[in-house]
Amino acid sequence: MNHDELAIIFDFDNTLIKSNINFPAMKISMARAAKKHGVDFGNEEDIPHRFTAGNIIDQVEEFDKRNETQIVAELWDMVEKFERMGMENVSIDDDVLQMLEYLKEKGISASILTNNAKKPTIEVLERFNIVDYFDIVVAREDVKKMKPDKEGLEVIVQKLKLNPDKVVFVGDSWVDGVAAVKANIRFILYNRKLLDSNKYNIKIWKHVQTMNELVELIDED
Ligand SMILES: [Mg+2]
Repeated sequence: MNHDELAIIFDFDNTLIKSNINFPAMKISMARAAKKHGVDFGNEEDIPHRFTAGNIIDQVEEFDKRNETQIVAELWDMVEKFERMGMENVSIDDDVLQMLEYLKEKGISASILTNNAKKPTIEVLERFNIVDYFDIVVAREDVKKMKPDKEGLEVIVQKLKLNPDKVVFVGDSWVDGVAAVKANIRFILYNRKLLDSNKYNIKIWKHVQTMNELVELIDED
């Protein structure tokens, strides 16, 4: 890849760091709480793959507006509880640290786009002493719409003052892939089974299993 003005945006959970946020359980808990107030998300078993946390929040916010209730606050508390639990045993792989050092040496900009809250994200970056590797960290408070919306990617691209074609986004989830398509940014799928790209309408530009492979990819002409 041409390194001139190349910038890489990373997803956070299970891309840069390994966290144990139990997203299925989190979404089911959110839906259960919503149901008590009359917002029904259907069969519990289907909830984890039918909805993102953002979908659930959006629908409950609509309900709150119509009914002048504040159920959404209860749901955010739940999200934060699950995030805190997931971040307790967070780890980072050596090849992530090596990759970050490589980008720094090459002068390639690195940023983060996460649907997590800002504070725990920064705390983890500080804990592993890697906060300085990143030019921009955009968390959910920084945008109106979380991934799979494109807003976060566009915010970063604008701040970097780069064309979207100079940017790649590395992530492990379909929400990352969809955001990349919407923002017209190349998507690198990291470390997991191939996503069903037809189902989600994702264009996977490259697929890497490890951060060493990402470095090799960047190193290619
Ligand atoms: Mg992720």
